[in-house]
Amino acid sequence: MAADVVVVGSCMTDLVSLTTRLPRAGETILGHKFFIGFGGKGANQCVQSARLGAKTSLICKVGKDSFGNDYVENLKKNGISTAFVGQTADAATGTASIIVNSEGENVVVIVPGANLLLNFEDLKMASDVICKAKVVVCQLEITPAVSLEVLKMAHASGAKTLFNPAPALADLDPQFYTHSDIFCCNETEAEILTGIPVGNLEDAGKVGRMLLERGCKLVIVTLGAEGCMMISVEEPIPKHVPAGKVRAMDTTGAGDSFVGALAFYLAYYPKLSIGEMIRNSNYVASVSVQAAGAQSSYPYRKDLPQNLF
Ligand code: ADP
Repeated sequence: MAADVVVVGSCMTDLVSLTTRLPRAGETILGHKFFIGFGGKGANQCVQSARLGAKTSLICKVGKDSFGNDYVENLKKNGISTAFVGQTADAATGTASIIVNSEGENVVVIVPGANLLLNFEDLKMASDVICKAKVVVCQLEITPAVSLEVLKMAHASGAKTLFNPAPALADLDPQFYTHSDIFCCNETEAEILTGIPVGNLEDAGKVGRMLLERGCKLVIVTLGAEGCMMISVEEPIPKHVPAGKVRAMDTTGAGDSFVGALAFYLAYYPKLSIGEMIRNSNYVASVSVQAAGAQSSYPYRKDLPQNLF
């Protein structure tokens, strides 16, 4: 049951309708396409890590319903251990109902459902797997106190903790910083956490330094097509790690592809410098933006250049 990369986080079923325009309140309109996708930041990150070859386990909760059953199958198909995927009758599997118009604009309603029922008892049952992992990853789509407890357990046992504060909370408990070996956020999350808008590389360096001063060892701010800014206790001068130029088609889930890839490199290539790990993770995430959807766009190891491994 042991896994090298353990992710504790969310599963969401994406219910996507494509329409020419978004409906007004009270209006019914016709869409031209509907599809169901597998999403949720926790599962996305775990899937990307697994597709690169990591031995992974996802600790999460879904409903005892058809979406939950399908999600468990999806995780298994991706080679992820589902030993700690709970199914509850007390809430539905988390959903994201998404309407996208022909301009690519969207409206989204997220109902976290079963994700918010993942609790301390579940962590206790999975504590062996969490504490024996090389890398433990979590985000904020489950109850924040549960994510914090995961970071504490992993930190105390010597696992590397990778925390992705998404969706961001303006009043994040300061302990999240001190229990994160790596704190990885995007520009929007960085702005919510620091109050400083990130418009250029200099701003990214500034917010990176502010977050580092709150007690983590390494901060990564992802910058979309610009790649990432990193700053660490060991290298306190912000360093830009650019992404390659690609033609982006759909950037949904790019940040999760990046985090999943980074977890893989931390677990299996600990001798690489963090700059090299970020460069490789940028590459993986930049492949994901060239195809549609989140998990559906994530590359497998066999489809990537072998110099990444
Ligand atoms: P999020 O999905 O959380 O908004 P970002 O947009 O910052 O995250 O993207 C995460 C990572 O995905 C970037 O650091 C980069 O590696 C890659 N990426 C995103 N957009 C592009 C793009 N247009 N071209 C190349 N790489 C991209």
